[in-house]
Amino acid sequence: MKEVDRRAYQRELVSAAKRLGLSTHGDVETLLINHALEKVRTWIVAHGTPANLTDLLQKIAVSFAVEIVEIHSDGDVDALLSRIPPSREPVLARLAEELDDSTDAVILQRQNRDPWEMPFLAAINCRGWHRSRSYFSKWHEVIHLLLDGRQLRFAFRKTNAKKKHPEEVLVDKIAGVLAFHPDLFQPVLSRHLARAGCLTFDVVERVRAEIAPDASRESTLYACLRNCADPVYFIRARLGYKHAETKQLDDLLSGLSETNAPQARLRVRLASASPAVQPLGIRLHENMQVPETSLAAEAFAAGQRSVRGREALEIWQTSEGGPIGSGDIEIEASRRGDEVWCLLRFLPGTLGSRAVKDTPPRSGKKDRHEGQIAL
Ligand SMILES: [Zn+2]
Repeated sequence: MKEVDRRAYQRELVSAAKRLGLSTHGDVETLLINHALEKVRTWIVAHGTPANLTDLLQKIAVSFAVEIVEIHSDGDVDALLSRIPPSREPVLARLAEELDDSTDAVILQRQNRDPWEMPFLAAINCRGWHRSRSYFSKWHEVIHLLLDGRQLRFAFRKTNAKKKHPEEVLVDKIAGVLAFHPDLFQPVLSRHLARAGCLTFDVVERVRAEIAPDASRESTLYACLRNCADPVYFIRARLGYKHAETKQLDDLLSGLSETNAPQARLRVRLASASPAVQPLGIRLHENMQVPETSLAAEAFAAGQRSVRGREALEIWQTSEGGPIGSGDIEIEASRRGDEVWCLLRFLPGTLGSRAVKDTPPRSGKKDRHEGQIAL
């Protein structure tokens, strides 16, 4: 986050905390997340444990007095407008135009409703690529209401899928935690982890089916990682170039040189680790090359849905720093479209090169190797 964005985000944290009567000192973001978690926890204690997280979401939405409407097609918009005509609820006239492809959802405050109708209406974009986000988008709109506190601050609000105002960043952050509320999610994950012995793609799928059936596979995977006590990395890799090679290719395209064209190699595109990885000092960097001898490369080349096995962490290397660590890892790799998805589990005794290099700590300086990775 850029400094200017960071300061705007801090201001947002403070104003949200003030609205909710929370302290504005210390780690305000964590205070806000805990406040939201506690609010839902109190609801669960009073109303009983819901069947799953979708059930929780529906009931929490009712408790915040918001009706959620899924929009899958123009027909759904027409059906909504015939049920609640803009002649009765003028703000709805904007819906068709505002719920465009850049928008995940809109929420509006009803001005003319019957006594049995909800005061708020959230229309969730479920068309095309928004579909896989719709579970999260619903939580997002509910969290907006939770953060508003008693102040009603809007008549019509839209959530842009890409442009992120500081308030949207905060709402996303809280929604990411509540969408997998630990009181419901953690016991199910623990049970499946105990049965399987470790985090696998199959565990993620079973957990999703049981407790978060409407969440996307990828968001469930990240929730499993966050809540997993073992050291595990998840990476998505695909063919790509080093930054310098991309520039070289641009030069080639503009006709400056035609020799030694760089080859695309399998590179890490996204990498995310469970909390237990950090103390090991192991770090996989974005754009780092996946070793050609890794099972990840094998699964990618063969187009296999699932390859599992053991390999040495030493083969994972950066161009500047050599091996990122030593010891054995268990790897599960699965080809998905033009990517390979991998879970890397670090076995006992595995240690990252950073754990050695970073002792004693380098007075808060950034690691020199950051961003200079990979052949
Ligand atoms: Zn929003």
